[in-house]
Amino acid sequence: MIEIKDLHKSYKIGKNLLHVLKGININIEAGELVAIMGSSGSGKSTLLNILGMLDVADKGSYTLDKVPIKDLDETKAAKYRNKFLGFVFQSFNLINYKTALENVTLPLYYQKAGRKERHIKAMQYLEKVGLADWASHLPSELSGGQKQRIAIARALAAEPKVLLADEPTGALDSTTSYEVMQLIQEINDEGKTILVVTHEKDIAHMCKRIVQLKDGVIIEDTKINQVRASEYV
Ligand code: ADP
Ligand code: MG
Repeated sequence: MIEIKDLHKSYKIGKNLLHVLKGININIEAGELVAIMGSSGSGKSTLLNILGMLDVADKGSYTLDKVPIKDLDETKAAKYRNKFLGFVFQSFNLINYKTALENVTLPLYYQKAGRKERHIKAMQYLEKVGLADWASHLPSELSGGQKQRIAIARALAAEPKVLLADEPTGALDSTTSYEVMQLIQEINDEGKTILVVTHEKDIAHMCKRIVQLKDGVIIEDTKINQVRASEYV
């Protein structure tokens, strides 16, 4: 599903160049649930943003679902992003003046779905994350865990091939974190390819594979026996 070869990324800071990714090589198959771990500043978000086509690498190759991601103009990039990728962020990134349902409906506009179809699909995904009864509520009326579930429903509504989550539990207490990870596990059990960036070991151990980043390279890549959320809470 994802093939990365010798990926490099630097940021210019004044006159200096900060070399963040120094030759990343990784293959991720369809259906995997991968944690990307590493301390703060190790380049996790940079890597995820490149995978998510929100940023581009300086060097190296990236193939997503057999499509080489290279030199795409913004229109094409947006098209692929919408078709292939769903995003979940630490801070949820919901639109505050829109209801839960409207938030989940949003990506469906970009896919040019009709009004009725948008509503049906969005309700279906709200149900999936256990929040159908909260459809008409605003984000301010929801708990952190509920907000993240809405964000997950929104990401899924576009039916992406890959779900990218950058510290999805970073703003949640541990019980809620495990619940959100359990939902992510359930979505993965249905076949979705998912990458979760985290710096928390217990969260990483709820994934099937842990990739450890340090100083811009992968220092460890381990398949693990999946640990269930229920064993933690
Ligand atoms: P992580 O997500 O692992 O905490 P990041 O990928 O966000 O790490 O950042 C890696 C390094 O790159 C950090 O030192 C950060 O300050 C720097 N960095 C990230 N984004 C930018 C940017 N847009 N411009 C300049 N430096 C950046
Ligand atoms: Mg980060």
